[in-house]
Amino acid sequence: MSLPFPPQIERVLYTEEQIDERITQVAAEITARYRDRNLKLIGVLKGSVFFLTALARRLEIPVKIDYLAISSFSASKTVPGVVRIAKDLDEPIEGEDVLVVEDIVDTGLTLRYLLQTLAGRGPNSLGICTLLDRTSRRLVHVPVEFRCFEIGDHFVVGCGLDYKQLYRNLRYLAVMKLESKG
Ligand code: 5GP
Repeated sequence: MSLPFPPQIERVLYTEEQIDERITQVAAEITARYRDRNLKLIGVLKGSVFFLTALARRLEIPVKIDYLAISSFSASKTVPGVVRIAKDLDEPIEGEDVLVVEDIVDTGLTLRYLLQTLAGRGPNSLGICTLLDRTSRRLVHVPVEFRCFEIGDHFVVGCGLDYKQLYRNLRYLAVMKLESKG
């Protein structure tokens, strides 16, 4: 069963099959890198949940999983917002090999804040894995080690990414029809 194609969707960017194939490849890279280590995946709620689940199921090493949620407040769309942790991790990360799992890295501001915060808790290592990377809009450098797809400047939904909390459950990644974006 599949969802009817929503009218606000402009086009499919990546199909379910393409996404599965790419996640399998990235999972193999992560398995190779973190074999014989203490890997903990940290999912950033809510957008990363679908990706993290698909990724974790393909890893061939034991992993721990924890989640946190971020809130950002911005006075305007051009002024970087203030970011804070709205829901913290359940467990400490001291001495662990942490991989932060994101849905999309855009300006990098959210992740920079997150990495600074997590680094202060003494993990053995701290890496980033993202489903989507939009480097063209980056404002600050963040070291993305694993990415599934590099995308252009269009607003994307599906596979956990939402528009007004809708469309997270689309199995494909799609470009939204938005008035403000070309
Ligand atoms: P950054 O701090 O890197 O600018 O923001 C990353 C966050 O912005 C993502 O976790 C996501 O919530 C949101 N975001 C950025 N681009 C998109 C997009 O194309 N689609 C959706 N649904 N969210 C986006």
